Amino acid sequence: MLDIESFHSILVLERKNNYGNIAVIGGLDRYLSQKALPIRQSLNNPKILIGFDQLNLTHLNYAACTLSERKLWVENALAWLDKLHESKNNIRAETKIPEKKQITITTDLKSKRMEKLDSPITVVKGITSRIAGIFAILGIVTIHDLLYFIPRRYIDYSSRKTIAELHQGDDQTIIARILQSRVVTLGNRRSTETIVEDSTGNIRIVWFNQPYLVTRFLPGKEIVISGAVNSFKSKMVFTSPEWEFLEDNELIHTGRIVPIYPLTRGLYPKQIRKWTKIVIDGWSWQIDEFLPSTIKTQNKMLDLADAITQIHFPSSQLMAEDARKRLAFDELFLLQLNVLSRKQNWQENQLGNEFVILAEFISSFIYSLPFTLTKAQKQVLEEIITDLKRPIPMLRLLQGEVGSGKTVIAVFALLVAINNNYQAALMAPTEVLAEQHFNNICSYFSDNGYQESNTPNSITYKMKLLDHTITVALLIGSLKLDDKKNLQIKIENGEIDIIIGTHALIQEGVRFQKLGLAVIDEQQRFGVLQRSALRQKGFNPHILIMTATPIPRTMALTIYGDLDLSIINELPPGRKKVKTICLEQRAVQKAYSLIRKQIICAKQAFIVCPLIEESEVLEVKAAIAEYNYLCCRVFPDFKLGLLHGRLPTTEKESIMLKFHAGEIDILVATTVIEVGIDIPNATVMLVQNADRFGLSQLHQLRGRVGRSNAQSYCILVSENILIASRLKFMENIHDGFVLAEKDLEIRGPGDFFGTLQSGLPPLKIANITDLNLLEKARYEAINILKDDHNLNKTEHHTLKILMSQKIYQNTDWS
Ligand code: ADP
Ligand code: MG
Repeated sequence: MLDIESFHSILVLERKNNYGNIAVIGGLDRYLSQKALPIRQSLNNPKILIGFDQLNLTHLNYAACTLSERKLWVENALAWLDKLHESKNNIRAETKIPEKKQITITTDLKSKRMEKLDSPITVVKGITSRIAGIFAILGIVTIHDLLYFIPRRYIDYSSRKTIAELHQGDDQTIIARILQSRVVTLGNRRSTETIVEDSTGNIRIVWFNQPYLVTRFLPGKEIVISGAVNSFKSKMVFTSPEWEFLEDNELIHTGRIVPIYPLTRGLYPKQIRKWTKIVIDGWSWQIDEFLPSTIKTQNKMLDLADAITQIHFPSSQLMAEDARKRLAFDELFLLQLNVLSRKQNWQENQLGNEFVILAEFISSFIYSLPFTLTKAQKQVLEEIITDLKRPIPMLRLLQGEVGSGKTVIAVFALLVAINNNYQAALMAPTEVLAEQHFNNICSYFSDNGYQESNTPNSITYKMKLLDHTITVALLIGSLKLDDKKNLQIKIENGEIDIIIGTHALIQEGVRFQKLGLAVIDEQQRFGVLQRSALRQKGFNPHILIMTATPIPRTMALTIYGDLDLSIINELPPGRKKVKTICLEQRAVQKAYSLIRKQIICAKQAFIVCPLIEESEVLEVKAAIAEYNYLCCRVFPDFKLGLLHGRLPTTEKESIMLKFHAGEIDILVATTVIEVGIDIPNATVMLVQNADRFGLSQLHQLRGRVGRSNAQSYCILVSENILIASRLKFMENIHDGFVLAEKDLEIRGPGDFFGTLQSGLPPLKIANITDLNLLEKARYEAINILKDDHNLNKTEHHTLKILMSQKIYQNTDWS
């Protein structure tokens, strides 16, 4: 736009100066030689382009024109500029979004312009429905999709040379005239050989396997060639370079930075470039800018339409980077806006339970514990106390290593709720874990009070810490139907204070009398859906989510961007590090003898079978095979158990109970044991084909041992240690957060969670590891929402429409 404005003022000045060619230093011709292309590139409307091309800027020799010729040309150019100006205004006027007082987000509010971008790509000349079908495989259906079809990379063909200047190696571009073309057979391949020349010399070009080109490469035609120059029999030659005829059109395949798109069968690079170019020229000006200009200026961002144009056909490497930065920022910014407005909905539009927490209560709780809290635990306790005292529902994620002591924090929160005369729930992902929590909590209560009564499915305690009795119940699926009903009635009557169970607690027919707090343990993804399930029950409880899977900060901000984060980053003192050893498969006997020694010392071991990403069935098969092999060939004298995901729940539980009771020495298992279970007597974790796992997952597995005073071992077996060198990190790094960052760095976000659903939204351009850009985006999103809660301001209008789109309404990944 700047170029056009300066072009306009120069012409006006030229007219004022009586067409003396003095309006611009160096003369108009020199100015135009620099500016004609950028100006042309900034024009996306084909009609306007035709007018522009008629001005013939590139071949104009203004200096040589007579005065009347100059006058004619300048007036024509000014008239064209007027038209351009008019058409821009028309477009804006025609498509102006109607003002409405109350903005409700529905599709009919979409502006006309958006609808046009929603047109199927078949409106583009040359895209047949067959080709549209191929594009659909790439997820491209509409014009908008094609505009956002981001090149994977670029090849820089912008360095233009004469034939004499060519040198071997780099990508270079020439403009030349075809001398002759013929079909030749080169190593069984029918190919096209063409000789081209310019004023400095000639050069041979070969296109392998493309004999049909010969019919197009007619002598005399001007052609642009871009590619690497090779040498053949000490002569330079281009082999299968990119090419296009030099016509009036802008170069898109050669002579510039050329985009390379992700390809799929049936689409050719040249076609894609041709179509993206058409779409950019015809539609990119229709894209609605949604970033407020303050954000753009502050972050030095390109305009959206420019970014889209430049991401496809950048005028320089720098522009390509800027374009990418702008589009990546957009993605992160919109996501942050999305999660943050959810947080706002949860917290600011809701009245929460303002708990009273006296200092005396806190100190007696701390006193009641058999250990001193770690520094990190104290810190988190503080954060939670602050949250619970506010009349806003807490929504906090507590991340902490396995064994870092999260449960005690949860117990504190539960007690606070009870002391404030509310009910509280504690949810675990499996029944076994729920039971484990129930037993631990009960023993804490009996250590600090006494049992007052005991019904088949609930226990009532009297504790010094609390003014009134406290009744705890375990609600799990395996309860008898009558017992379950009975419990549900008690929960509804408010006779039960603390309910412990699986996540089903909040989803099924359980009705609370007065739920004040919910703790969710070991849950990767306690999504928006579950949260709204809670709300539909008519409560705004405080929510504390706990996870032992440390995730990098960038991911946490994205997946859990609507939660406040707390971290316990230290283990209670005196814990022994799990000795970790990487072993090659051929040395696996060493591992077996270590296991043997441990079992003779009355310890137990886990052997985890390879993760098989594609198929649980294969994974189970591998586990069964491993189990049989170990039973017969390696440990015939020990008791082995087998645990995998295909076993019925009751059988899984009975195996776990046997292992817990020491009736099984070695548990052979698939990754089902990753979450949860606590077997302090187990001291060896052997992982087969460890290279199939991410570091974070291995760290989780390692966390299954090292839970007592005894030294524990983690043995990572892989075919070839050199190839699986990243496993070496496990030997020295014992901090889950550090491993998580490493994992993300090495394997990228897609693999980060292994086979688990990552919960990550689809990012096309942004890099999830770019903390810097993410924090900028988050900062701007926070600012916008602070200033304009519901995005009702006019300057946020487009943004609001965008936020209503499906991907941002989709709660699946959040
Ligand atoms: P996780 O964070 O994995 O849920 P737990 O809460 O189960 O860990 O704690 C693991 C063990 O450590 C429990 O036996 C618990 O009693 C103990 N523990 C927790 N905090 C401390 C502490 N500050 N000092 C000593 N032991 C602690
Ligand atoms: Mg735990």
